[in-house]
Amino acid sequence: MVTRFAPSPTGWLHTGHAYAAWIAWRMACVNGGKMLLRHEDIDFSRVRETYYAGIEEDLRWLGLRWPEPTWRQSLRGSAYAAALATLQQSGLVYPCFCTRREIAVEWERMGQAPQMGDGLESFRYPGTCRDLSADERRKRMEHGDAHAWRLDMGKSMDFCGELAFFDRRFGKVLVSREAVGDEVIARKDIGAAYHLAVVVDDAAQGVTLVTRGEDLLAATHVHRILQAILHFPQPEYLHHPLVLDHEGKRLAKRNDVLALRTLRERGTSVDELVASAEHWLRDFF
Ligand code: GLU
Repeated sequence: MVTRFAPSPTGWLHTGHAYAAWIAWRMACVNGGKMLLRHEDIDFSRVRETYYAGIEEDLRWLGLRWPEPTWRQSLRGSAYAAALATLQQSGLVYPCFCTRREIAVEWERMGQAPQMGDGLESFRYPGTCRDLSADERRKRMEHGDAHAWRLDMGKSMDFCGELAFFDRRFGKVLVSREAVGDEVIARKDIGAAYHLAVVVDDAAQGVTLVTRGEDLLAATHVHRILQAILHFPQPEYLHHPLVLDHEGKRLAKRNDVLALRTLRERGTSVDELVASAEHWLRDFF
């Protein structure tokens, strides 16, 4: 079994990360496999160099070990570009020239409150650029208009037929058109995006069990479609609960009180810190 922990080096790890990392690590240990560490750092505007080492130090303190060298997504641009080219040839993605503001205005024009995007994008894409003619697309691209690439969910699902993924907690989950909107798979500024990078890397690294927070369950619908189009093997999943603060909100990176380095300095024991993850996990070994 190969699992992975995939933090973004945009802040210090907190108790929520300890929970997630512990799950990835213990699942691998119990099943005689290994956990990989992958820095998800494609969003270079938010990344700080000091966090890479800080994250690794915190994970070692928790007792976690992984094979070196660790992967950095920022060095994987050519692999993402190759996958994007395949998707472009498939005709299942389209260039999107919209700004965030234009998307909000479009929702207003349609007389609807923006539909929330399940925590993936702040709201679902209303489909404006999906119906542009080939001619219009070409003209705007030749003109150098900045554009992202979106996965056409409707077309992709017609192309792939019935798809499902298996989650150790939720069982067999059918991929559904309604789960997500047309998500961005390559950003204007970066040339890749979370969904594409994760799917390409999980396949390239031979990940067989993806463990991550249940807030990303909707994202897995997109990932399963991308795996099918790109002929990648499908991993198994385990979407775990999120650690919430005393107000029931998910932990933010800036929550320094719960940062692992603060807890470590205060003498918190690792056993105490990972007890709830260990307890929850027992049913899924
Ligand atoms: N980088 C993501 C995060 O920090 C994890 C994504 C994943 O595990 O697929 O939440």
